[in-house]
Amino acid sequence: MIPPRKTRTIHVRDLPIGGSAPIAVQSMAATQTKNLEATARQLQLIHAAGADIIRVAVDSKEDVAALAKLRAGTNARLSVDLQENYRLAELVAPHVDKVRYNPGHLHHHEKHKSIEEKVAYLVDVAVKNACAIRIGINAGSIAPEYDARFPDDHVSAIVACAIDHCALVDKLGFSDYLVSIKDSDPRLVVEANTRFAAERPDVPIHLGVTEAGMPPEGIIKTRIAFEQLLSRGIGDTLRVSLTLPFDDKGREIAVGRELVKDIEEGRFRSVPPNFFDGLNIISCPSCSRVENDRFIELAEDVKRLTAYAKQHKLTIAVMGCRVNGPGETDDADLGLWCGPNFVNLKRGEAELGAYRYDEILPRLREELDKLVAARG
Ligand code: SF4
Repeated sequence: MIPPRKTRTIHVRDLPIGGSAPIAVQSMAATQTKNLEATARQLQLIHAAGADIIRVAVDSKEDVAALAKLRAGTNARLSVDLQENYRLAELVAPHVDKVRYNPGHLHHHEKHKSIEEKVAYLVDVAVKNACAIRIGINAGSIAPEYDARFPDDHVSAIVACAIDHCALVDKLGFSDYLVSIKDSDPRLVVEANTRFAAERPDVPIHLGVTEAGMPPEGIIKTRIAFEQLLSRGIGDTLRVSLTLPFDDKGREIAVGRELVKDIEEGRFRSVPPNFFDGLNIISCPSCSRVENDRFIELAEDVKRLTAYAKQHKLTIAVMGCRVNGPGETDDADLGLWCGPNFVNLKRGEAELGAYRYDEILPRLREELDKLVAARG
């Protein structure tokens, strides 16, 4: 049920992606990279689960030093997530096989340089270190120029950004790259990737529904997107992003392989028309930016606490960090994001304050009660 894909084949070290290559399944270490022991354990368990590629995030020189040590201790194919600090690329690229940059994060540093110059720098680093590149676009962090061009149309903004960045990289003569366009809403993931693939059928695509949340809902949302896309021949590699305890992160790989197998063998699940009508909890898969491990527990508590409102068409977003939390919760009715000691709460665009971990749940309940009452 997965038709032949038309993309070109690129390589991440020895792993072919795209064209007739098997669909590669990847995951990401959720620990802080500088926490060597915990991250080494993440790499080991995700590798043992059969990951084709494992991503780690790097935000600081401490993370870079840790990455060098981690590289020495594993033969897993590693990808690095540059997050906002793209200037670390030249330090991390010698230790990894793939570099992911987010076009929405290039404007944070070296504001005097153009986006073209920054992309040229990243491509140069990739060439010198034999790395592939992922142009990783996320609806929660759209590059400001695209937000301005398409203020009310997320999908057009992220698709245009992807197409433009491919053109920038093409112009530099670099072809070992792929693209991801992610959102927490599987319907937008389907629409954006379908539009992108129609424009650039040659470019391999990394699929994912970001902040899909906890199982089983997170798996269902991901399945909705993957069934629609893989069955149209769209998607060459994928990640299932689930909110899971660190020790269960290998499950992302097992679920990814199971989804691919089901789709290959024609086992589709139908999606009822009212699937998106009730309470929607989105939560991030966590990564090295989480500053308090209680985030996973909090996400599970939020799910339990809010179950009474399951008939109401509301979205609650629970994010693990202060960096992406504020932006990623923008479209939610209620948003929470975690800091080391406090959890921030937002209703729509209005920030309601920061609460201790033992205070946040009653506060959330209070706000949810008001929303439920207002909607009858
Ligand atoms: S919201 Fe923060 S902690 Fe969660 S995955 Fe995104 S960057 Fe990582």
